[in-house]
Amino acid sequence: MPTRAPRVCGCGRVVASGVRCACQIKRDAERKARHDAARPTARARGYDSKWQRERAAYLLAHPTCVRCGAPSTIVNHIIPHRGDRSLFWRRSNWEAVCTPCHSGPIQSEERRAP
Ligand SMILES: [Zn+2]
Ligand SMILES: [Zn+2]
Repeated sequence: MPTRAPRVCGCGRVVASGVRCACQIKRDAERKARHDAARPTARARGYDSKWQRERAAYLLAHPTCVRCGAPSTIVNHIIPHRGDRSLFWRRSNWEAVCTPCHSGPIQSEERRAP
């Protein structure tokens, strides 16, 4: 026996007492999806700016490509980090390379790696 009367939601639907309207559920799901989508982006932004600084400093200290001696433009991870942050930031895993070396042999090495 219901003790409370159904209510009329802002969207015009009549909703039983204690039950969330479909429009609220949808709004919450959308809010959560937006929140989830924004979170990694914000993290990635911080990560990127730190990486840009570290990378620029590393290239200043290592101005030539370790493979061919051309001016270096890219800090390559010797062991592909695959999202492993400690491997990503480990400087002994960094090498300065030029774009042709990075887009050529290194990427095919990375593709071959398990
Ligand atoms: Zn509603
Ligand atoms: Zn090179």
